[in-house]
Amino acid sequence: MKGQTVVIRDIVKRYGNFEAVSNVSFDVQAGEFVSILGSSGSGKTTLLMMIAGFETPSSGRILIGDRDITHLAPNRRDVGMVFQKYALFPHMTVAQNIAFPLKMRGLSRSEIAARVADTMALVQLAGFERRLPSQLSGGQQQRVAVARALIFEPPVLLMDEPLGALDKKLRESMQFEIKRLQHRLGVTVIYVTHDQEEALIMSDRVAVMEGGRLAQVGAPAELYLSPKTAFVADFVGKMNFLDGDYMGTGTEGAIIALSEGSRVIARSGLNGSCGLISEGDRVRLAVRPERLRLAPKGQGGPWALPARVEAAIFVGSFHVFLVGIEGRGGAPLQVQLPASGATLPFQNGDAVDLVIDQEALKLFPATEASLGR
Ligand code: ADP
Ligand code: MG
Repeated sequence: MKGQTVVIRDIVKRYGNFEAVSNVSFDVQAGEFVSILGSSGSGKTTLLMMIAGFETPSSGRILIGDRDITHLAPNRRDVGMVFQKYALFPHMTVAQNIAFPLKMRGLSRSEIAARVADTMALVQLAGFERRLPSQLSGGQQQRVAVARALIFEPPVLLMDEPLGALDKKLRESMQFEIKRLQHRLGVTVIYVTHDQEEALIMSDRVAVMEGGRLAQVGAPAELYLSPKTAFVADFVGKMNFLDGDYMGTGTEGAIIALSEGSRVIARSGLNGSCGLISEGDRVRLAVRPERLRLAPKGQGGPWALPARVEAAIFVGSFHVFLVGIEGRGGAPLQVQLPASGATLPFQNGDAVDLVIDQEALKLFPATEASLGR
């Protein structure tokens, strides 16, 4: 089995006058694992169904390898498909379920038997041949669905929230199993999930969807470190936001006056699509919890913000502090500090200096930020 490229070009899907998918384009490399990540209703399933052939695009083209498959019937596309609700045939045994695609393709009984045995071993289901789906756990049922999708050796495997029905522990072990399978087979995978952690863990690249549009496509680290919009910044990983007014850019970086009066500097300046900010504009600052630091009051340096610890939480490998900036209402900021033992360096109620890593501060226009919600 060898993976093939998938090219998605200007795909639009309308239901009446509602646009479920708006002008989405991206390429998936042969053997690549790409996740489509977005909240419920963002158009992920619709997009995947168009690649699978169960929905027809209103406009745009889809290519697998160098074949234009936009209007090809699903069974002629050579894509395997795994759904969230395993969609197994309840009256068929495990072996019969897995054999089904080969039967449809008219392979000989002996070849089917050999391929079923191989595939069952591949997904670690040997010994379960004669069981019915109802006699399997959720994880085992999903392995049957994966085996059935892989048995005809498709160059492309599509998965729509395949682990959504499983509990956390099982989900994590299945994530590694799917990755292992994909590596071993070299199959191209397009994987739909609403779980940003799952997308980051599993994918070579992640395509973030927002309201039918593609917000950003990038490697996990790229999305995490260089989100192009406040929406992506918020959706991928934990993020703190601060609102303020852009005062202009000096030698030290962009200067922002926060709502309660104090000023901060963003050294990385205006990022991503935010070239349109001008002096006096409302802006939204974003900073990750691990790029904030706490110092005893008065010891945080010239740009520190006076703040108060509202909660000190022991998590295990790190500490989390919820911190309110003096004079600022709204939700407290999350600060994440490495843990060295069980003793928390600051306590609930402590007056502290909040130190922001100026290199890590992202700047977005406030209007775009509010659109993203
Ligand atoms: P997701 O998988 O990201 O949760 P979907 O692709 O299922 O989102 O749906 C995207 C949007 O399109 C939703 O608002 C949904 O209600 C709408 N939608 C999906 N299928 C249909 C349909 N057959 N008819 C009308 N609207 C639909
Ligand atoms: Mg869906």
